[in-house]
Amino acid sequence: MAKCERVVLATTNAGKVRELAEPLSALGVAVLGLDSFPGIGDIVEDGDSFEANACIKARVVAAHSGLVSIADDSGLEVDALHGAPGIHSARYADDWEFLAGESRDARNIRKLLHVLRDVPEAGRGCRFVCCMAVVFPPSMGGREWAVRGVWEGRLLAAPRGTNGFGYDPVFWDPELERSAAELSREEKMGRSHRARALKALLAAWPLRP
Ligand code: IMP
Repeated sequence: MAKCERVVLATTNAGKVRELAEPLSALGVAVLGLDSFPGIGDIVEDGDSFEANACIKARVVAAHSGLVSIADDSGLEVDALHGAPGIHSARYADDWEFLAGESRDARNIRKLLHVLRDVPEAGRGCRFVCCMAVVFPPSMGGREWAVRGVWEGRLLAAPRGTNGFGYDPVFWDPELERSAAELSREEKMGRSHRARALKALLAAWPLRP
């Protein structure tokens, strides 16, 4: 069996590399970031699900690097919007103008709160979803599989808290009774969709080609 001593994480996000590098190094596996493979360039994520997009990214990186690759894709699903913005979470409000000084995250939140302005609390269920895909390079058999982590919550009517990123200020955790942006980094890592997907990934270790 081919041994998996190095994996490439299909992201340039240093925080995500660190998240995976810590637990995997304890298992004797080194984690490389995309910055080790500058030739790869932009990857077009045109899948129709989190799993499909994560697999697309991991497949390109595995083929290019010759190493096992891990990629993630994540977003927010809102029940009242039949799962939107979903895979389009990062670009949800790209069809809206920016207010002066407004960030992309803030514009996404402004659009979402506007669209849901008449939806009562009982109808504001939502979840963060994170999918992590593992792809072996063709030279190691090309096997692909994916795990999913989900964090259930409710959409607030107005932002709360200043931590985190993205939709955190409007995501209410009903068990902790705080928004995701009111949690410390450690608290969020204990509950988040990404942490749950990571746990599922590590539970499946060692990877079998
Ligand atoms: P990506 O998969 O990291 O590119 O995330 C896609 C988008 O989903 C982000 O731009 C955010 O809008 C949203 N998102 C994903 N994870 C989180 C989270 O933990 N908190 C808030 N927003 C998130």
